[in-house]
Amino acid sequence: MTTIFTYPECDIPLKEFHRWYGDPLVLIAREGTLNRLKPRDERICRYCSKSEPDTTFKSEAHIVSQLLGKNDLLCDYECDACNRIFSKYESGFVNWLGITRTLIGTKGRRSKVPEYFSSTGNVQAKVNTILEAEGTLISRAPEAGEAINIDVKSGKTTIQYLKRAYIPMEVYKVLLKIAFATLPEDDIADYQPILRMLTTEVHPDLCRFAHVMRFQLPLDQTAINPYGILFTKQDSLAHCPKHCFIFYYANQVYSFPLPFNIQDIRNGCYMDLKSFFPPPVFFEEVPENSRINVDLLPMGSLEKVKDDREAVTFEFNPKDLENLIAFDPVTGESKPHVFDPEDIISLFMVDKGKKLLLPGK
Ligand SMILES: [Zn+2]
Repeated sequence: MTTIFTYPECDIPLKEFHRWYGDPLVLIAREGTLNRLKPRDERICRYCSKSEPDTTFKSEAHIVSQLLGKNDLLCDYECDACNRIFSKYESGFVNWLGITRTLIGTKGRRSKVPEYFSSTGNVQAKVNTILEAEGTLISRAPEAGEAINIDVKSGKTTIQYLKRAYIPMEVYKVLLKIAFATLPEDDIADYQPILRMLTTEVHPDLCRFAHVMRFQLPLDQTAINPYGILFTKQDSLAHCPKHCFIFYYANQVYSFPLPFNIQDIRNGCYMDLKSFFPPPVFFEEVPENSRINVDLLPMGSLEKVKDDREAVTFEFNPKDLENLIAFDPVTGESKPHVFDPEDIISLFMVDKGKKLLLPGK
């Protein structure tokens, strides 16, 4: 069995989970991955069950959207009509992710990191070069003092903003689609009803079932490429969903069971509707003393959510605030300065080890 690791607080859930589920199947969305695709006239869409000439397969269908990073992980079982529907959901998915893509520096299809604007425009983020160092500049509007909060004593820094609109069920469908695209062909028939719902109306049972466990890892523990892990239960009669999926993007981990496998329902495995949410697992040891945030998010709503409040938190060593220098880019002068968090209207984040080159230094 593959050795897997998790955070100390997830150790017990992992042991419990490991009793039911076997070795994972891993999918990595990295640039340059090539998979062999079937000729178009032999393709069948996994989501609407159509083939040519009832539908078309002209466009490239990505298992993981390129909005989460350029990748060539294509599939031959998503038709153009379904692809268009998923693309629409993905724009809401990006709104739901909020500032993360810009903060992490995710380069999309055109190899550019997107600029970010919060729903009210109070927080903006973009890639910028300051004093010869490239990094991410996060700025708040002058009147939005609460948007950047720095606790001088602990070094805890919080960026607060309002997300742009999204529909939770559509976000859930994007995550489900990635999971279902990872599923081996043989398992597809057992999910027919749910696969149809991904691009059409959903049954109220799915709205009730739709939950995602979100784990937010420290910002320095970011996945370089998005990846997914599919778990399959070993005993088909066990009272848990046949498949569970974990999706890793940047420092976010989303874990959820795949809903309504027909065999599971027939075998009474859903009698208590108990859902299994695998803890985040890694194939190498996780850094000690990492703090993670865990939330169980209800994703069943079909209503548009506007102005959802989000906070990103990170910490620095408060000692770093001693002996600060203030540099004036207009005059080129630098002088000692006492740090006042209220003064801060922008933060500039660069990779560890990078230095800003002050003139004359
Ligand atoms: Zn289709």
